[in-house]
Amino acid sequence: MKNKYIVAIVAGILCAGILTTGLVWSMLDGEDPKEESGENSQSQQQPTDAQTPDEGKQETPDESEKEPEKQPEKEQNPDEGKQEKPDESEKVPEEKPAEKPVEQPAPKPADGSAGYVGNAVIATMTKEEIETMLNDPFMLLVNRDHRIGKDFNGLNLTSYNGDHRLNDVTASALRQLISAGKSAGYNYVLYSGYRSYSTQYNIYYGKVSRYKNQGYSEEEAIRLTNQYSAPPGASEHQTGLAADVCIPSIVNKYDCLHENYEYTDEYKWFSAHAHEYGFILRYRKGDEAITGYNFEPWHYRYVGVDVATEIYKMDVTFEEYVEALQARLAQLNTAQ
Ligand SMILES: [Zn+2]
Repeated sequence: MKNKYIVAIVAGILCAGILTTGLVWSMLDGEDPKEESGENSQSQQQPTDAQTPDEGKQETPDESEKEPEKQPEKEQNPDEGKQEKPDESEKVPEEKPAEKPVEQPAPKPADGSAGYVGNAVIATMTKEEIETMLNDPFMLLVNRDHRIGKDFNGLNLTSYNGDHRLNDVTASALRQLISAGKSAGYNYVLYSGYRSYSTQYNIYYGKVSRYKNQGYSEEEAIRLTNQYSAPPGASEHQTGLAADVCIPSIVNKYDCLHENYEYTDEYKWFSAHAHEYGFILRYRKGDEAITGYNFEPWHYRYVGVDVATEIYKMDVTFEEYVEALQARLAQLNTAQ
């Protein structure tokens, strides 16, 4: 008799445990608590993918119902459950556009080379050809790590529509690109071309002080400004080879700085054809760690048709392309 009672009590406790834990888990949105945190950190790096984990969750609600057998373990490890919560709350403040991009960025080549070091075209280039290319002014790499001096006043600047200046070759290529867009039914406007060192200085530190006036610390103000703005000397606009291009409705209201521009048909057309006229999308989505800037759907850089087409096909950043040339040059120098 005694044994029966004990069995009954133990069974009762187990049932209560199962019910309670089941309840807690259902409050966790059916998310599998064993999900590896790596997935979460990935989705944080790429805001566009932020919706994917949710989709996955909806597809696998059964998982949480199956799990109760393992509950007693779970109750002994309440920390596992807790870890889920902070992840969820970290996701919330993320800025994510309501719409999903229709076209996902093309994945990098599967051969693991990231498509550049072993690139067929670069592999056939001679040492001299690579050196000439790296010294070409249109190949000038400017970023936070490769700055230009305050006396660098652009390359062969010319007026563009009276209110802007651009490098002369860049200006003519941009006119052709914008005119081709018009034939396709889209209207584009140049928002910003050449900017001098001092203009960039004023833009950059102007933004820093605006953030500080909003109550941010100096450090935080600089961090926020750095997301989209280059410090003086680190902006491609100082070369005259960069153009911020978007559409009149956005320029009039928001300058060009508007995330939703990437969802317009105009952006899709422009980003698909820019290379045919020698331009590359300079700050790509997902490459923030390489370029040092947030995705800027409006910022294009002239590099010439051949290089732009090659970079477009290779699906890499300008930094990676230049690095590939340098790597191949080093290889050839060693071989000699
Ligand atoms: Zn720009």
